[in-house]
Amino acid sequence: MTDFTQLGVKDIRDGVASGDFTAREVAESFNAAVDAASALNAFIVATPDHALAAAEAVDAKRAKGEELGAMGGVPIGMKDLFATHGVQTTAASHILEGFSPQYESTVSQKLWDAGAGMLGKLNLDQFAMGSSNETSYFGNVVSPWQKAGSNAAMSPGGSSGGSSSAVAARIAPAATGTDTGGSIRQPAAFTGICGIKPTYGRCSRWGVVAFASSLDQPGPMARSVEDCAIMLGAMAGHDPKDATSLNRDVPDWEGALSADLKGKRIGIPKEYRMDGTDSAILDSWEQGKAMLKDAGAEIVDVSLPHTKYALPAYYIIAPAEASSNLARYDGVRYGLCDLPEGAGLQDMYAATRAEGFGDEVKRRILIGTYVLSAGFYDAYYTQAQKVRALVARDFDRAWEDCDLILAPTTPTASFPLGSLNDDPLTMYLNDVFAVPASLAGLPAMSVPAGLNPDGLPLGLQLVGKAFDEQGVLDAGLAIQQRAGFEAAPEKWW
Ligand code: GLN
Repeated sequence: MTDFTQLGVKDIRDGVASGDFTAREVAESFNAAVDAASALNAFIVATPDHALAAAEAVDAKRAKGEELGAMGGVPIGMKDLFATHGVQTTAASHILEGFSPQYESTVSQKLWDAGAGMLGKLNLDQFAMGSSNETSYFGNVVSPWQKAGSNAAMSPGGSSGGSSSAVAARIAPAATGTDTGGSIRQPAAFTGICGIKPTYGRCSRWGVVAFASSLDQPGPMARSVEDCAIMLGAMAGHDPKDATSLNRDVPDWEGALSADLKGKRIGIPKEYRMDGTDSAILDSWEQGKAMLKDAGAEIVDVSLPHTKYALPAYYIIAPAEASSNLARYDGVRYGLCDLPEGAGLQDMYAATRAEGFGDEVKRRILIGTYVLSAGFYDAYYTQAQKVRALVARDFDRAWEDCDLILAPTTPTASFPLGSLNDDPLTMYLNDVFAVPASLAGLPAMSVPAGLNPDGLPLGLQLVGKAFDEQGVLDAGLAIQQRAGFEAAPEKWW
């Protein structure tokens, strides 16, 4: 009998469509796998009934000979940042505990319309702030990967760590993620899976709990480039409800996939050779170059001179936007309300926010409020916005010499949970290679490149021109075919 949990999006979709198995059988297998994997803490809530109902609807359509949709019969995990009608949506924060939206996010609705079902809501860093999945109110997610010869609990990355852990552990064939400054790519790299952040505006942010609105972007996480292409096609598209949504056609990324890179120039940014980058990562970068060359591409050196200012600028802009976005959690409209005996309105706000937000979220609100304050706005916020423009201009100049950029996704492989908790700056450095593409709004993907000497996955990142998800996916496919990454974590959970 087929072990359905080993299958990815394409195989499930095609198998259901051709009648090799039913969507219900697939949903049942994944529901059981989710249930058996509580040690990973990947899900905040499981929704087996949602998965079954969606599967039955697909099976019924098939019986009637109707179209099953691009994700027909595929059960997925939904990052708990997407509002889901009638299903608790928390952003992994106490302040939203018990909040059950009366609406569905555009992206999740599109996935259901395409025939997908929901296995549950995936754990994440609180309000998507973090790189290790340790800021969740619902406990940290554990990576299914362990270092060779050790059973220390490792980080699945963050903030989409529930998504990365679930997909790598094969308890979900794919999951949604969101990326503000690396939260799709870094967890994908840490867990040996693929994840693409499309061009800013490709996927609607409507109904996604806001962190930093000018950066937030949903995207798919799955175990192959093809699966990401399929799922991105189902998630993307213009949405009048999101003022920054791109009004452009969604190309057939899956249909146009090609690993033939003849005529493509791949830029290697010299500024990404940073101190502190693991030698295994530098080696994998060299191998990545060779793979793309083998696929017909030309490798060229490029310069992105403002790279080192990107991370500091991000840690001004993202908290500034967060401090404004999170002002809406006041104890009145959503979730938690802490009203001490005899308290007034201000006391209720203060008590609710003190109780409801985690430490990292408070840190960001404080930083954000500070950099937006009258006395410091120009010194920090305006300055950071100028840096953001320079980072974007660096890419524009690089595109005169190349079509895509190849870089590592992260400076190190995954680390043990708890090891960076007292060191927020080192934690922030995880995203040093991811943040520039976020500030510039460009499509960027992480694909598995291999394992380091400890047996932990490493990812390579491809960054493309605005709207060129196809170029990014094609180069990702070329790496996937050559890296032949088949490794899976050994089951301990
Ligand atoms: N790790 C980064 C942060 O903490 C990025 C988070 C994200 O992309 N959501 O802000």
